[in-house]
Amino acid sequence: MIQAIGVRKSFGSLEVLCGVDLVVASGEVVCVIGPSGSGKSTLLRCINRLETIDGGTLRVDGDYVGYRRSGSQLHELRGRALARQRADIGMVFQQFNLFPHMTAVENVAVGLRTVRGVNKRAATERAEHHLEQVGLSDKRATYPEQLSGGQKQRVAIARALAMEPKLMLFDEPTSALDPELVNEVLEIMIALARTGLTMVCVTHEIGFAREVGDRVVFMDQGRVVEEGSHDAVLTNPQHERTKAFLSHLIRS
Ligand code: ADP
Ligand code: MG
Repeated sequence: MIQAIGVRKSFGSLEVLCGVDLVVASGEVVCVIGPSGSGKSTLLRCINRLETIDGGTLRVDGDYVGYRRSGSQLHELRGRALARQRADIGMVFQQFNLFPHMTAVENVAVGLRTVRGVNKRAATERAEHHLEQVGLSDKRATYPEQLSGGQKQRVAIARALAMEPKLMLFDEPTSALDPELVNEVLEIMIALARTGLTMVCVTHEIGFAREVGDRVVFMDQGRVVEEGSHDAVLTNPQHERTKAFLSHLIRS
């Protein structure tokens, strides 16, 4: 589903991704961990073409991210064509990013209408189905400011699911939540993982990684330092930097 080879990305003179290699199979759940500033969010943002890459290749489901192939040539996608490619990749952010002036059901339906061209009635029906999936049918007409953080994040997950993505990216989806609201979001993510959806989750929820992560990837300073099963990386890390990071995580 994802094939990243030698992906590089700089912001000005700062190289943030220094040749990232990552392969994610269809149906796999991969958890990415690593210190702040190691490039985890940037990697997700490149996979979803919120950022362009400076080097290497990045493919999702066989397609070069941000490009269309015709014969042996690659043409850069723009506008609606790019929006359509991106719509196949769901993204859930730490800060939810809901539209404040739209109700929960409108937040979930809006992408269906604008990107997929689904009519209002059908989009609303699908949005209601996905709100039910995240246990929020009773909040359909509620605006984000009246929702708890956990509820906002569940609406954001429903919004991503409504597009029927082939891949979901989660960027620290529980980091902004009060501790007692973390589990309601993790439970939805666990249920999704069990449906066979391909997921890449940047998360420091080690329990989640152990329960559903097929693989754990440790990033540091713009590189994948270590990857493997959760037992291999979390219980028996080989690299000093992984060990140091995990010992911080466990102490905090
Ligand atoms: P992580 O998610 O692992 O904490 P990020 O991918 O957010 O790391 O950031 C990696 C580095 O890139 C950091 O040093 C950050 O300050 C920098 N960075 C991220 N986005 C931008 C940007 N749009 N412009 C400049 N620097 C950025
Ligand atoms: Mg980040």
